[in-house]
Amino acid sequence: MIELKEINKQFGEKEVIKNLNLVIPDGEILAIVGPSGGGKTTLLRTLSGLETIDSGTFLLNGKAFDPTQATEHEQVVGVVFQDFQLFPHLSVFENISLAPKMVLKQAKEVYTKKIQELARTLEINELLTSYPFQLSGGQKQRVAIARALAMNPSVLAYDEPTSALDPELRQQVQSLILSLKKEGVTQIVVTHDLTFAKAIADQLLEVSPK
Ligand code: ATP
Repeated sequence: MIELKEINKQFGEKEVIKNLNLVIPDGEILAIVGPSGGGKTTLLRTLSGLETIDSGTFLLNGKAFDPTQATEHEQVVGVVFQDFQLFPHLSVFENISLAPKMVLKQAKEVYTKKIQELARTLEINELLTSYPFQLSGGQKQRVAIARALAMNPSVLAYDEPTSALDPELRQQVQSLILSLKKEGVTQIVVTHDLTFAKAIADQLLEVSPK
């Protein structure tokens, strides 16, 4: 279970996150919806340690953690960014294995086994030797999800997972998120698409510009 208590974040005079309280039970999906400028991306950046908070507490299973202090192998929240941020000069397998190899210092057999499992779940078996430029948007997204999950985060978060995709792929993303839920993955989905949010979420958080 991940909990956020009284989280506050300002940029200068601008209050972007104000007294935010949240509890996400294990295996559930929280959707964060709201218009542009509501602070959705900022919240994901604070959860993944890319941005500091001004005050408040993050708890994992009742224990406080500081996302900015965690070494990467203790990263609680893995984020799939809107533009996927794959390394263009690395194959799909290399993109997914880079952090387990370099950061977690896993042995080749260990990360290879994990990547094979993830590739099955995400249906990217056939793509492991391809390069990002050879992939469709939906395939790139599945690779980005595999890359995040290869680090064993407690929570997987997505920034606008449907926005870079063709409308017909939305249904596939929805199925994918729900199938990861069945596997027990706790997920946070930032979106401006309320219909999509309602279709997947156990809990809906609406944010608005302050
Ligand atoms: P969108 O849907 O457009 O991505 P959002 O809800 O994700 O919007 P954020 O990107 O979190 O919103 O931005 C919230 C507010 O904080 C905006 O007014 C933005 O200009 C401001 N902001 C975000 N990052 C910074 C920063 N590093 N410095 C100053 N202001 C920032």
